[in-house]
Amino acid sequence: MSVSATAGSAALFARAKNVTPGGVNSPVRAFNAVGGTPRFMRSGAGAWLTDVDGREYVDLVCSWGPMLLGHAHPEVQAAVQTAVAAGTSFGTPTEPEVELAEEIVARTPVERVRLVSSGTEATMSAIRLARGFTGRDVVVKFAGCYHGHVDALLASAGSGLATFAVPGTPGVPESSTALTLVLPYNDRAAVEAVFAEHGDRIACLITEAAPGNMGVVPPDSAPGGGFNSFLADICRRHGALFVSDEVMTGFRASRQGHWGLDGAIEGWAPDLMTFGKVMGGGFPAAAFGGRAEVMAHLAPEGSVYQAGTLSGNPIATTAGLATLRLATDEVYAHLTRVGDTIKAATSDALALAGVEHVVQSAGTMFSVFFTGGPIRNFADASRTDSAAYAAFFHAMLDAGVYLPPSAYEAWFLSSAHDERAVTRILDALPAAARAAAAATA
Ligand code: PLP
Repeated sequence: MSVSATAGSAALFARAKNVTPGGVNSPVRAFNAVGGTPRFMRSGAGAWLTDVDGREYVDLVCSWGPMLLGHAHPEVQAAVQTAVAAGTSFGTPTEPEVELAEEIVARTPVERVRLVSSGTEATMSAIRLARGFTGRDVVVKFAGCYHGHVDALLASAGSGLATFAVPGTPGVPESSTALTLVLPYNDRAAVEAVFAEHGDRIACLITEAAPGNMGVVPPDSAPGGGFNSFLADICRRHGALFVSDEVMTGFRASRQGHWGLDGAIEGWAPDLMTFGKVMGGGFPAAAFGGRAEVMAHLAPEGSVYQAGTLSGNPIATTAGLATLRLATDEVYAHLTRVGDTIKAATSDALALAGVEHVVQSAGTMFSVFFTGGPIRNFADASRTDSAAYAAFFHAMLDAGVYLPPSAYEAWFLSSAHDERAVTRILDALPAAARAAAAATA
């Protein structure tokens, strides 16, 4: 199959653009950041995707995280097929949603959990609950942390550190971000300053447990407590809730279901946590949960309203449950082994080609920045050489490796990434690194 054989994707993209803005149903699927035509995929099996032109790619996106076990895992598929045969949505409670909630409660620090359909819904609802529980209105977040397209969280930093945010996109009214404070990640002094000035108004601070949406930027560790334990502590001291967004890290960065509490790493406990991606097994399922005392404020037990027609959908919960049950220690050990091989080979290839870069990890998650490190926050990440990444991305794509079409994303692996898949990646790296070198600004 010739590398230029992308006629099917090009034709579908042309049709899609006639009926859908930008031809995609989520902006990150477009190739705007790297140029070119998005590949329309027909099928996936294990670590591989096949596009509508019949080209095969090793998948390093894994649906942006959910496909921890690879595509079309036979046991997940069998469970889903059985569930579908029994009916797809009842609008009543069902057994799979109880089982999935029990699994989440067993594997994470949350005591009660509410199932929803997307990570955005989870973070939006967690913030509403934090405001309802505390009777306060201000929310603190970090630049470069993405929590879904919640109006109040699509915010950019105001003109000063303790100044309220401005809308990050047209369509978000100023009033929606007027109660949001946006701070630089890993910056303790900035956090202390806003708590000193607004502490009695802060309902919650929300952070990715280990940010993956500006590339992977682990929380700083320090003797006496890392960044997350510092955040948990300052929230506790000011009566604010600490919300750990584990939509990306949850059940992906470690088996525990969450990253920051991964034993040796940190010792903090969030009041609320949000989950998504892996826990839906490739279907729309997400969750937010936390301390029983906080969750008791949620309707119908409490007075904070939250609802969803398809929340806890039996097919989505069946897929999520099957995935979590198959996510054994060996799966995470495999991700670590394969990740280490890919990280080392990528770094070696880029170094040989003379491309400045840094590889950063959080648990089994990792990403490659095309700039010098360490990368501790969004300003650091923004130094990445997007032109070099675009050249690298297209060389890998032409060699049959599907990387995230953006320089600011984690690379995702699955338990199905076997020797054949890894070999395809390693073989593609030297030429891609040379392409990146040639494109370096
Ligand atoms: N929170 C984090 C950390 C995420 O990475 C994402 C999505 O990438 C979300 C929330 C939003 O999830 P969803 O896209 O399911 O709405």
